[in-house]
Parts: sequence; C-alpha cells; structure tokens
Amino acid sequence: MARTKITVDRNELEEQIRLAESSQVFSSHFALYNYIANTDWARNHIKPLTPSVIMLRIKEFNIAINTQKGVPLGIVGLVQSHSNIREDKIPSDQRKKIVHRMMLDIPEKYHKLIKPALRGSAKAAIKLKCLDCTAFQKKEIALCECISCPLWTYRPYKA
Ligand code: SF4
Repeated sequence: MARTKITVDRNELEEQIRLAESSQVFSSHFALYNYIANTDWARNHIKPLTPSVIMLRIKEFNIAINTQKGVPLGIVGLVQSHSNIREDKIPSDQRKKIVHRMMLDIPEKYHKLIKPALRGSAKAAIKLKCLDCTAFQKKEIALCECISCPLWTYRPYKA
C-alpha cells in the first residue's frame, strides 16, 4: 500500500502554537504537542493529528517555539539514560522497573526490542526511539524529514 504523508498547513500550525503559548505555559515540548493535538483544529483535521505528527511537522517547518524543553519522559528517557550501560550493570530491582515501564509504554509486537536496547544495542534503541517519536507509526519514520535529528540517518523503515 502506498505511503501517504499527513499534510499539515504550516500557517495553521503556527497559529495553533501561538494561541496555545499565549494561553498558558507548558512544562515541556511534549506538553505543548499534546495540548495542540487535543484542540478542535487537530481533532477535526482530515486525519486527526497526534502529538508526534505535530512534533514532526514543527521540526520539518523549522517553527520556533517559546516553550522550553522538559525532562525526557517515558521510553525516550529510559533508553537515553541507559543506552550506554550494559544490562548487567543496571541493578536488578531498577532493571525490573525499567522493563515493566517499557512494556506498558510499548506495543507488544515491539517488546522483543526492549532487552537488546537495554543491553546496549544501538539499532534496537534507535528503532524504539523512532517508534516512540511517531506514536508507533512506521510510515511516519520513513517519511520523517527532520534532518536535524541526530538519528535521522540511522532511522529504521526507510525503504
Ligand atoms: S529520526 Fe526518528 S527520532 Fe528523529 S525525528 Fe525522525 S522519527 Fe523522530
């Protein structure tokens, strides 16, 4: 089946960001993306816009936002903070918590990537990061145009 990119109007997106940031202060970029994804504009879009798609389009259009970056959350933070240490170096009680948390956040079909990522496999960690970034929509990874992302060259599902 042909891949179709979700089209977003740049001016409309900029207007939504301006409205959101003038109405409140967000604790992180993700909080802003999430807020916009819950607006009528995003929900009534030809295809409802997820926080991940909003993030990808903001990066693609190089739109400046005032909201400060927050502390990494979810599997992003877990993989980032543990990708440089071997699984056997993580205390077992901590490892159990990490694996449990990741299993809650990640769809079952991708659970097989968790242990390799925690053991230090960059390939598995990057795949999980890109999947997380796109709300587990593989086609969005292939279509990702965020060339400033350090993982862009290494992202999976390109072909
Ligand atoms: S390369 Fe991966 S992590 Fe980077 S923006 Fe694209 S999908 Fe997200």
